[in-house]
Amino acid sequence: MSRRIIPVADVRSLPPSPAVEAVRSPSGELFDTLARPLHDLRISVTDRCNFRCVYCMPRAVFDKDYPFLPHSALLSLEEIERLARLFVAHGVTKIRLTGGEPLLRKNIEFLIERLAKLRTPAGEPLDLTLTTNGSLLARKARALRDAGLTRVTVSLDALDDALFRRMNDADFSVADVLEGIAVAQAVGLSPLKVNMVVKRGTNDSEIVPLARHFRGSGVTLRFIEYMDVGTSNGWNMTEVLPSADVVARIAEHFPLVPLEAHNAAETAQRWGYADGAGEIGVISSVTRAFCGDCTRARLSTEGKLYLCLFATMGYDLRALLRGEASDAAISAAIAQIWEQRADRYSQLRGSEAAPAVGEERRIEMSYIGG
Ligand code: SAM
Ligand code: SF4
Ligand code: SF4
Repeated sequence: MSRRIIPVADVRSLPPSPAVEAVRSPSGELFDTLARPLHDLRISVTDRCNFRCVYCMPRAVFDKDYPFLPHSALLSLEEIERLARLFVAHGVTKIRLTGGEPLLRKNIEFLIERLAKLRTPAGEPLDLTLTTNGSLLARKARALRDAGLTRVTVSLDALDDALFRRMNDADFSVADVLEGIAVAQAVGLSPLKVNMVVKRGTNDSEIVPLARHFRGSGVTLRFIEYMDVGTSNGWNMTEVLPSADVVARIAEHFPLVPLEAHNAAETAQRWGYADGAGEIGVISSVTRAFCGDCTRARLSTEGKLYLCLFATMGYDLRALLRGEASDAAISAAIAQIWEQRADRYSQLRGSEAAPAVGEERRIEMSYIGG
């Protein structure tokens, strides 16, 4: 039965990009119109969260009346596994589970167990990881490790407890998250990364204390520039602290030396402590766009495929799954979607060539995952 259910036409009006013929390599690897391969898949397993971070899910918007997705709309764990398998056949080597708060998803361990069994066409296991706010990590770290998760990234925006509580706006303490980090390290989920979103005037005073805290601990602390994702956080450029300033502030206390990137698609620029006490990373999503190397696709909680964090429209893979499409048909759809990708929002941000996208149509970070 043939069905035309995925919207392959994208309403985004990107300007013409330097055209490169879309190529599909014999290995099944895909390249988009800017010759970027598909290597990473971020899967949002829930749009719900127990935090209300001011920059992500402000309580005024995400209140008791917010229309979170009903359970029937969510991809089942089996559906996620099936799609992941097809993406891996197309060259995906890294999968990150995210949300919302992924540890709120019931039976997440079952999904991890399945994903940990997948192999790339070359027979390698995936780089399988998860981003969490850490609140449930102390309780779940061992089960996650036993299910096959190898590493984890924890978000932590302040060491000062009162400030952290104000930022998560749900009364979770720094101690909860630090305990989660300690248990994750103890069970061997490593290398462990901690992400701090820096909002100038809100938590930039915490840059040096967090650097001091994690120096020499084996944890890599990464500073993320506050981004204009979604429409609910009231983003303003004046609240972005450029990564260069973050590095300068830390270097005043602890001299830093630049480190080589692990690979071209790495989003973070690495810096090492000159005294050998480990490293930090900075993710300059606003001031130093890395669209040219962006190899990431994102699968939303309800099975829509997004080609950019700033996309306004996704491609409905759930309709294919539930319309009983064959693996071959879904695989062909994924190829077709990736091969027409031209997204490079951050590179164009603020320029005249920036996509003319209605602000109201941008998707939220909690829906698509970071
Ligand atoms: N709830 C999990 C967590 O907080 O780690 C996973 C989902 S969260 C959306 C993923 C990451 O996105 C987190 O590190 C979070 O700090 C980051 N994030 C959310 N909104 C952001 C924004 N406006 N700018 C930059 N990073 C943001
Ligand atoms: Fe929840 Fe993560 Fe968003 Fe904070 S950043 S509100 S923890 S999804
Ligand atoms: Fe990738 Fe879009 Fe971010 Fe550019 S703006 S790095 S294309 S997700």
